[in-house]
Amino acid sequence: MPSPFLTPGTTAQPNDITLLHLRRDQALPTILRDYDEDNMGYKEGKVANTRFGSFPHSTMINRPWGSQIAASKVDTGSRGRRGNPAKRKADDLDESGATTTGAEEDTPSAKKPVAAASGFLHMMYPTPEAWTLSLPHRTQVVYAPDYSYILHRLRVRPGDTIIEAGAGSGSFTHAAVRAVFNGYPEEPQTKKQRLGKVCSFEFHEQRAGRVREEISEHGLDGLVQVTHRDVYQDAFNVGDPKTGPSPKANAIFLDLPAPWLALKHLVRKPESGESPLDPSTTTHICTFSPCLEQVERTIRTMRKLSWLNISMVEVQCRRIDVRRERIGLDATGIRGATVFPTTVEEAADKLWVDEQRAKVSRTAAKVKHGAEESNGEDDTFVLPESLREKPAAPSYSLGRLVHRSESDIKTHTSYLVFAMLPREWSEEDEQKCRQRYPSNK
Ligand code: SAM
Repeated sequence: MPSPFLTPGTTAQPNDITLLHLRRDQALPTILRDYDEDNMGYKEGKVANTRFGSFPHSTMINRPWGSQIAASKVDTGSRGRRGNPAKRKADDLDESGATTTGAEEDTPSAKKPVAAASGFLHMMYPTPEAWTLSLPHRTQVVYAPDYSYILHRLRVRPGDTIIEAGAGSGSFTHAAVRAVFNGYPEEPQTKKQRLGKVCSFEFHEQRAGRVREEISEHGLDGLVQVTHRDVYQDAFNVGDPKTGPSPKANAIFLDLPAPWLALKHLVRKPESGESPLDPSTTTHICTFSPCLEQVERTIRTMRKLSWLNISMVEVQCRRIDVRRERIGLDATGIRGATVFPTTVEEAADKLWVDEQRAKVSRTAAKVKHGAEESNGEDDTFVLPESLREKPAAPSYSLGRLVHRSESDIKTHTSYLVFAMLPREWSEEDEQKCRQRYPSNK
């Protein structure tokens, strides 16, 4: 089954993981089912019940990705959630995704039927970025600003093999598999084609099990291999820790509390067993640690184990919201009020009104003063011609430039340590090189 994460096609198919976008910042992951074990009598498949209405999966299956889906107008009463809640949970991610205000929890509406509503949602194919924002968090996760940079620095390309530990909530796993994807295992392979692969290790049994289930539900079997393993102790070989074959990785990402304890296994000639690294390519590594003490220990160990080009980076991804803030006069001229003009034109208009008021009252005072001096007969005033034309407001008077960083960019700040280990170089390689370049003796 092709994965909608990698090759979504043009339309949503049964059993595809789909993101139901309820709002700009809220998406509900759901696996599209054209049947509902709990509601055998109904042909609408499963139903996503949200605060914007009920959406039978049958109205989404075979529709083009990106379609706007209207809520069902009919309340057949079939939207009730019956049966064993534990069994439902296995294939229904609605519940785990519906943690915030947008979506109602799927409570048994057999007792309380969901009313027909006139809302809509957009049905989107999943991407690692969207999955990161909607996945059920079981641990801290790596967010898109970090993993896009990490995969770039690790030079991960289609056909590569990447080792990841620990898998945690599987956020990095999804980004990594997209980066190495070079065809499905069941497809015929050409001789030169190397299938990309993610070898993911997780020490927490339930977490490893959940990531494995998600990988399967997302059509990524054969591309991601999740192993339940303490990598500090049992290293990175596939299957049996002692006798299992080497994954022959060319990229490594360690998101572990003590990455330096795993480094001893990531060498060309380990104390026991085969090296998990591909001997024919340079290996690139990244470790992700929240504090500098951990970074120092990692770097010290890397140096001892001959890793080169060691560097540390912190990704600070902030979108800066810049605007003008005027403190002084509000639209009614009351001092001390704070004005947040929404557009530059609005700001210019307000300023002009304030300035005219100030000028008019100064002129009035002058006229009045003059009239009093000349026997008090005339205390009216006329707006001078020069003040009737609206002048262009100088930009400095539109207010003080202020900036705030946007609060809703999700990222989790950690320090990234990068390094590389050159490929193995044997006497045989040296001979081959000399034969190929005889002048380089
Ligand atoms: N990178 C993951 C993501 O993007 O979702 C999050 C990883 S989480 C912060 C760290 C994980 O490392 C935890 O799930 C923890 O169980 C796992 N872990 C800790 N020590 C480990 C070990 N010795 N071997 C394998 N996994 C380990």
